[in-house]
Amino acid sequence: MTRPRRRHVALIAALLLAPMVAPGVANANANGPFVPPGQGAPNRSSQLSAAEVSAEMHALAARSKGALRIEEVGRSGQGRPLEVAFIGTGETRVWIQGRIHGNEPYGAEAALSFLKTLVSGGKQTREVLSNISFAIIPIYNPDGFEAYQRQDVINRIDLNRDWGVDRQIFDQINTVRAGRGEAPLPERTFNNYTQYRAVESQAFWYAWADFRPHHMIDLHHQGTYYVGDSTDEMTTFSVGISLDPGMLSQSQWDTVRRMGVLAADAADKSGVVTTTLYPYINIPEGVVSSAMLNGPGPRGEYANWRSNAMFFESRGGIGHKSSGYIIKQNVDGLWAIVNAMSDGTLANVDADRYGEIPARGATITTCIKFPNQCDF
Ligand SMILES: [Zn+2]
Repeated sequence: MTRPRRRHVALIAALLLAPMVAPGVANANANGPFVPPGQGAPNRSSQLSAAEVSAEMHALAARSKGALRIEEVGRSGQGRPLEVAFIGTGETRVWIQGRIHGNEPYGAEAALSFLKTLVSGGKQTREVLSNISFAIIPIYNPDGFEAYQRQDVINRIDLNRDWGVDRQIFDQINTVRAGRGEAPLPERTFNNYTQYRAVESQAFWYAWADFRPHHMIDLHHQGTYYVGDSTDEMTTFSVGISLDPGMLSQSQWDTVRRMGVLAADAADKSGVVTTTLYPYINIPEGVVSSAMLNGPGPRGEYANWRSNAMFFESRGGIGHKSSGYIIKQNVDGLWAIVNAMSDGTLANVDADRYGEIPARGATITTCIKFPNQCDF
């Protein structure tokens, strides 16, 4: 008799306690809990479809008087066009990609918004376009986008684990691990790397090898997290680097940290965003990682090129109301970086300030339960 009643009391106590534990969070989650794929996707009505994103790209190109060119570099596993938007005439080449993880909202919208600002003109924009050439990919994974799942649809693999790792890179990983006091990865790990199983990976590697970008920025989403370990403040934006510094040249490490500092400063300036640092990872088989390491292509060939790359992670689990600032923080971050590349001030940024960006704290929502929505 008393048991159900005690459970009931405990539940009420938990409900009363919840807002006290994290007062800043209750409001932020007004749009409901982080809903996993397959249980309905509450935010999709505010998101464009893959076909709509493509149509907008082509409409922009038509308006651009030839400045913007859309190229189909291949087809997805289910036959959707894999499109890259090329704009700008400058010598510095910048690659921006969104939505490699199909269930991470707004990467496509952020890339598209940024593209719109490039097309819409103005003195500053013309200056940037005379110094920089862009390759912009709003949707890397159109099938996953439509299915609202992280992976591609045909192979059901994470496309951000499908670029090339050769023996030299594998040996580098184990050197880094030894330096960190970690056991070496076994030989079977090398044999298990999935290299270019997906047609998307193949198509975009050749596009990358052809364009050979100096800089790359990869747009992602994560769950909802605290700022650091001792605040009740929510972070909506993290910046990250997908490799151990020991995998990179000093020049690469400095450049990618400078990019992170600029994006964090720009996002924080709005006053509603506190940028945090994405936790340590070392994933050479990721797209931008392999691009930094001159990873081999689908047929074992080499582009003989090393990009400088980092990634943005925006808060997920959001409705239409929040999408505006999520998109804005991405666009602000991108502009801060490209302005500094364009006017030559990137090299003057203090790279060590990267280490002063607050760490990302514990998860606020249910990422542990639905890890496919939360990690890089
Ligand atoms: Zn992601």
